[in-house]
Amino acid sequence: MKIVSKIKLNNTEYTFEIDERDEIESFFKAITFTNPRLKCDICSNFDREKFKFDANKDKEGNFYIKVVCRSCGASSGLGKFKDNRGYFWKKYEQYIPKNTGQSTPSAQPKDKYGNMGGDWTSNL
Ligand SMILES: [Zn+2]
Repeated sequence: MKIVSKIKLNNTEYTFEIDERDEIESFFKAITFTNPRLKCDICSNFDREKFKFDANKDKEGNFYIKVVCRSCGASSGLGKFKDNRGYFWKKYEQYIPKNTGQSTPSAQPKDKYGNMGGDWTSNL
């Protein structure tokens, strides 16, 4: 059964044409793809104009589809159940960059007494 399903995000209209042999399978995909989480779990934004689809592909060839909250930058990825039961939208999460090699205050070297940087005696 063929289902045409539409969603408009960030002034772009996406039209999904899904044609599965099993009509419930078609309907399931149409509902999942066009019903991403439109309330951000991080900043509570629910303005439909402030979400956009985004995608990337890693070196192994895996695709990542997500909805990005344009208010805070958090994203909700499209997850796929491992046992092929279908798709689901994950909770919004904010990307936290991995250690870039730059030193952070907590990464400052400690002296032989275990004190971190700075002249702590000046606080006396
Ligand atoms: Zn947000």
